[in-house]
Amino acid sequence: MDIAFLGLGTMGAPMARNLLKAGHTVHVWNRSPQAREALLQDGAHACDAPLDAAVAPVVLSMLADDAAVAEVIVDSGLLDALPEGAVHVNLATVSVAYARALAERHAARGVDYVAAPVVGRVDVAAAGKLNILAGGKAAAIERVQPLLDVLGARTWRFGEAPEQANAVKLATNFCLASAIGTMAEASALVRGHAVAPADFLEMLTSTVFAAPAYQGYGGLIAREQYTPAGFKMTLGLKDVRLALTAGEATQVPMPLASTLRDGLLEGIAQGDGALDWAALAKVSARRAGQQ
Ligand code: NAP
Repeated sequence: MDIAFLGLGTMGAPMARNLLKAGHTVHVWNRSPQAREALLQDGAHACDAPLDAAVAPVVLSMLADDAAVAEVIVDSGLLDALPEGAVHVNLATVSVAYARALAERHAARGVDYVAAPVVGRVDVAAAGKLNILAGGKAAAIERVQPLLDVLGARTWRFGEAPEQANAVKLATNFCLASAIGTMAEASALVRGHAVAPADFLEMLTSTVFAAPAYQGYGGLIAREQYTPAGFKMTLGLKDVRLALTAGEATQVPMPLASTLRDGLLEGIAQGDGALDWAALAKVSARRAGQQ
């Protein structure tokens, strides 16, 4: 398939590489051009500006947030330049409200819009084993399913309105933030009683919390391994804030999310925004006077 891929950050680069390896023709663009060099050497075609991506009838994007998507897809003129019948797959975690607005803008242009936020960190993306949360018209999802099958182990469909998939993604990341926040505070608790958090976390994640999210993030907290960041604290704050906003839109109080938002904000204010969001454990330790 002839496709364009915009946004070659932590997640986008390995995803674009997998599409290339699967034999697709991939046109790549990234704001910082050096990120595309390795892909160009592997056979990708260069786009010098987002607008150049209009050469392909299928556009995938993995950009940071609403503002980046607005800049790259809409303000650049790319959406207006796409031929009628083209499809845009937005893989990023964006707000429910912006996903809805984007779907309307795409529909007005006769371009299909598929929301396909992903669950899984960079290692999972590199292995092509992401879980993809898809929202959009069934026919549009069917059309890009062969590409989603390259990127992920499974595509979960959540409705014809793209923003439904974004609501599920935000709910999922809220659960992840809760898991990290819980282990962060619990680790501070045991450290306060002279027990090594690593010993506690090994027991916890081998027994009653033997689930991938707890094992993965528990391991990072146990090793105090917050760089390189698989998922930056700044992105974590974005997602918890988006979950709160999505909740507010339908009068769903999320007091736990409010607490997590403040913890992430505190970590960022202390200069840890570029660390993995597992560094919430540093926030809890600092609050306990343990550093
Ligand atoms: P990242 O490493 O920070 O990459 C962000 C990408 O967006 C980069 O290509 C960056 O370009 C681009 N970008 C940011 N602002 C831009 C702007 N104003 N104009 C143009 N391009 C802009 O983030 P990531 O970890 O790959 O995450 C990407 C998306 O996936 C986010 O929505 C995130 O929430 C979601 N996600 C991440 C993970 C994870 O584990 N990392 C997992 C699931 C979902 P530059 O290279 O020029 O900065």
